[in-house]
Amino acid sequence: RAKASRRGGVCFFSSELDDEASERRMLEGDLREAIEGGEIEVAYQPVVSSVTGQVTSFEALARWTHPQRGPISPARFIGIAEESGMIGLLGTGLLLRACRAAAAWPSDIKVAVNLSPLQFESSGLVKTVKAALALSGLPPQRLQLEVTEGLLIRNVDHTFAILTELRNLGVQILLDDFGVGFSSLSYFERFPFDKVKIDQSFVAKIATSPAARAIIQAVVGLGRTLNMGVVAEGVETPEQMQALVELGCTHLQGFLFSEPQAESAFRHILRPDRDEAGVIASL
Ligand code: C2E
Ligand code: MG
Ligand code: MG
Ligand code: MG
Repeated sequence: RAKASRRGGVCFFSSELDDEASERRMLEGDLREAIEGGEIEVAYQPVVSSVTGQVTSFEALARWTHPQRGPISPARFIGIAEESGMIGLLGTGLLLRACRAAAAWPSDIKVAVNLSPLQFESSGLVKTVKAALALSGLPPQRLQLEVTEGLLIRNVDHTFAILTELRNLGVQILLDDFGVGFSSLSYFERFPFDKVKIDQSFVAKIATSPAARAIIQAVVGLGRTLNMGVVAEGVETPEQMQALVELGCTHLQGFLFSEPQAESAFRHILRPDRDEAGVIASL
């Protein structure tokens, strides 16, 4: 866009829009090919227990490297997939891949998969999750599904009914990015989430904003009363980690521990039996 507006020193608003729209159409076409060709990869990011320091789960995060443009952020391509009706196919493929990977991990390590609100709108989500579990052999107890409040602002009754069916399968339901947007405390009255993930914006401000600290503290209190784990996302520094542990967050996730990486980067944790001399591995 910056390029378009510099052209001849004059900004032609309509041509900017054209550029934007044609770039999007191109990405959409390429994304369709990438999805159908199985080219969307999964990166994994560890989540650690604040009590033991051990990895308890990995979050699966979608990755797309465009052949000409390099890596495209999931915020962008998940959005395109949602708007062009491809999120069902993409989401199902990612879920199956993540379940298959996790089925080969040590049995005390779970996998977390993000769901788009739109995956709740087609009727097949529960069937899809059942199929992924059956095909992969992953026990339901080892699958966590992350949902955001975006899901909960429309068609609430339908959504909670599906979440209940999913939870009855034995999978855990996590509320992601809590505290931004239109988060409502009433969600916790409507549904027994297994964990809540505090949005990374609060973690980033923990040293400078007494309000951010107080909000984290309040969510931790809620978590204790409701028997719900509290995960802090976006932990980047030892100082943040210490403050979050003191506040009582049960789990931590962030670049301090590891960036999301290919599964093979975590071989030492995920396939300890294949390591020399059976070294006990942790991060
Ligand atoms: P999310 O589910 O909240 O995922 C956490 C995001 O925070 C990831 O960004 C991760 O790379 C990033 N992150 C983790 N630790 C840190 C940290 O210490 N500092 C900073 N600055 N960032 C950190 P990513 O991979 O770019 O994904 C962005 C969002 O895209 C995700 O947010 C999720 O909403 C969506 N997404 C990613 N993969 C999928 C997927 O397979 N399906 C769906 N529906 N959405 C996905
Ligand atoms: Mg997530
Ligand atoms: Mg999040
Ligand atoms: Mg997020």
